[in-house]
Amino acid sequence: MARFLTLASGSSGNCAFLGTARRGILIDAGISATAILRSLQEQQIPPEAVQAIFITHEHSDHIKGLNVLVKRLNVPVLGTPGTIRALCSQPLPASARLTELRGPVEVGELEVESFRLPHDSAECCGYRVTFPGGTRIGMATDMGYISPETARMLRGCELVCIESNYDLRMLEMGSYPYSLKLRVKGPNGHLSNSDCASFLPELIRSGTTRLVLGHLSKNNNHPQLARDTALRSLSSAGMTVGVDYILEVAPRDIPGRMMIL
Ligand SMILES: [Zn+2]
Ligand SMILES: [Zn+2]
Repeated sequence: MARFLTLASGSSGNCAFLGTARRGILIDAGISATAILRSLQEQQIPPEAVQAIFITHEHSDHIKGLNVLVKRLNVPVLGTPGTIRALCSQPLPASARLTELRGPVEVGELEVESFRLPHDSAECCGYRVTFPGGTRIGMATDMGYISPETARMLRGCELVCIESNYDLRMLEMGSYPYSLKLRVKGPNGHLSNSDCASFLPELIRSGTTRLVLGHLSKNNNHPQLARDTALRSLSSAGMTVGVDYILEVAPRDIPGRMMIL
């Protein structure tokens, strides 16, 4: 059975586990290695279960714990060529096995594919993981908009973790400097609640049954607001929570609920 767990999600740090009961992968290492290993242990996932670490991009909220984690786990670190090049200037152990993704890769029983996301880093990507039996989980955060390729890769995934970063009104009324507001809402920034929400009915129609809203802004969003925006969009498309889909909001600083498919 496929398992998905966010260990942290948001601008303070990101990390998720995807795998089976026995082994799997991490996507990002943006919190301390100690916190990552402790949270996995709490879910009865031993450190040896982690076969590889996939990185979405080199922003610190995605790689802060990578240096220590690589020393502890000694597993390969994979990312797009641009991200791997950017990681070369980061403090990482000489033994780190950095691997550029040039196509789908197999890690144990999992197949992992990356897809490009529009974001202001070297070469940001999302991931789609296919489990034995064909179950798929897609993950896409840190993107200014949903590109046709992103939509194509996420459609048909049973579970999708997607960014719902900010409420436009909160961002515009908030205390961020004007230049930062423009960055966040620009085409290479982050995805708003409403842009996320308007895509969700398409996902449910494609076969998605579990939605996880992720990478919420601390300053420009509330979990309830992100959730309500998503629910409104889905219910106006005739879809009922608890019947057609399950909706979770990934907590920023603590692990979310383990999703088992
Ligand atoms: Zn981020
Ligand atoms: Zn970022």
